[in-house]
Amino acid sequence: MTYFLSLGSNLGDKRRNLKRAIGHLKNASVRILRASSLYQTQPVGNADQPWFVNQAVEVETDRTPWALLALLQSIEKKMGRTKTIRNSPRLIDLDILLAADTIMDTPDLVIPHPRMTARNFVLVPLYEIAPDVLHPVLGKPAAALLAESCDRSGVHKIGRWSSRSRPSEPRQEIGSFSKTHSRNGGS
Ligand code: ADP
Ligand code: MG
Repeated sequence: MTYFLSLGSNLGDKRRNLKRAIGHLKNASVRILRASSLYQTQPVGNADQPWFVNQAVEVETDRTPWALLALLQSIEKKMGRTKTIRNSPRLIDLDILLAADTIMDTPDLVIPHPRMTARNFVLVPLYEIAPDVLHPVLGKPAAALLAESCDRSGVHKIGRWSSRSRPSEPRQEIGSFSKTHSRNGGS
């Protein structure tokens, strides 16, 4: 099955953390079909923490959503993520956004991800790699979700990872995305 995942980090070497997470996915035979640029993103919900680096990827795996969630959680653990408080600083956060047209709503797994429509740090990278992908509950493509998003937190595209040039946040962004409506905290 094809999935869209969201990767995020706001502790330590954030870009390296995303690279390592993708390495772990590949080692577990998850095929990376498309990967977005990296984005420096303003924390949503709890502003008193470092900016994040976020990315969206499309992957292919035989795993069920539950098995994929277990894999994502094992990677988070292997990489040293300890705290699990929502909207708090984290070394790595791996979320399932979409699982083709699967819809599920259980205490431990909700697909599509329930907060994706209120988070530009998810929608902007997703739009980059799959503007036409449909949200199976809302019946709308990523492009429409982004256009209708009320979140106005900063999401700035950054260049490819390079050991020589590692811009500090958020001054040296290359491209940027901003919206004009009032802020919606997400969470
Ligand atoms: P968030 O990613 O919203 O900031 P956390 O990563 O702290 O929050 O939340 C982790 C919990 O969210 C996990 O225990 C997991 O069971 C649950 N969860 C529900 N739906 C999903 C999903 N689609 N992807 C990832 N985790 C999910
Ligand atoms: Mg998560």
